[in-house]
Amino acid sequence: MADIKANLVQVTGQIDQLVQQCHRAAGCVRLLAVSKTKPVSALCAAYEAGQRAFGENYVQEAVDKYHALSHLTDIEWHFIGPIQSNKSRLIAETMHWVHSIDREKIARRLSEQRLEGLPPLNVCIQVNISGEESKAGIALSELGDMVALINSLPNLRLRGLMAIPAPQESHAAQCAVYAPLVEAFVDLSTSDSMIDTLSIGMSGDLAAAIESGSTMVRVGTAIFGERDYSAKA
Ligand SMILES: *Cc1c(COP(=O)(O)O)cnc(C)c1O
Repeated sequence: MADIKANLVQVTGQIDQLVQQCHRAAGCVRLLAVSKTKPVSALCAAYEAGQRAFGENYVQEAVDKYHALSHLTDIEWHFIGPIQSNKSRLIAETMHWVHSIDREKIARRLSEQRLEGLPPLNVCIQVNISGEESKAGIALSELGDMVALINSLPNLRLRGLMAIPAPQESHAAQCAVYAPLVEAFVDLSTSDSMIDTLSIGMSGDLAAAIESGSTMVRVGTAIFGERDYSAKA
């Protein structure tokens, strides 16, 4: 197994250094450890090394891990994958955050299905900023309507925007792809103080994302090693 503790130290150090290079405030970028396809033992290793926020992409896997680690009550569970409406209840009942809201129907269901007694579900709207290449995410032109909808739902709390851009050939090109999203985020967060999260940056584009203003990077491979999809049923 990858040396998860050493990797976490390395990634955290890299984030701190990038933040400093961009003259941003220390600690302004949170690390979400993306643990999809990795065993519970890998999450435990990261937890023991101090990591608390974990991101999962597959509903059943996320819920299984949530139950397996329910004794670690300070874990923060983030759902970052596509959501089918027949799986929304499982997410509403377990997760603390959802980054991948891109359909009105899913937003409504998550709010309706949130268990009484749980705090509102923190959500980010997923925006498609590389056009044709991905079907997930709304267009920026649809953002106003989606913000209004989420703000009308009692059990969701809008925290920001998320994107998964296609990889670009250079740092400058990666920043250019992020630019319209960053502009939309700045507009939103200026008018609403609850909006504090720009969820961009993965193992391959941390520098461009942090320079662009990311407040939460989602890192899998650099912490847990390569994923082996063939092992997954
Ligand atoms: C898998 C995944 C990540 C992490 O990707 P790495 O390249 O392994 O760091 C981040 N965000 C989303 C939405 C993902 O699906």
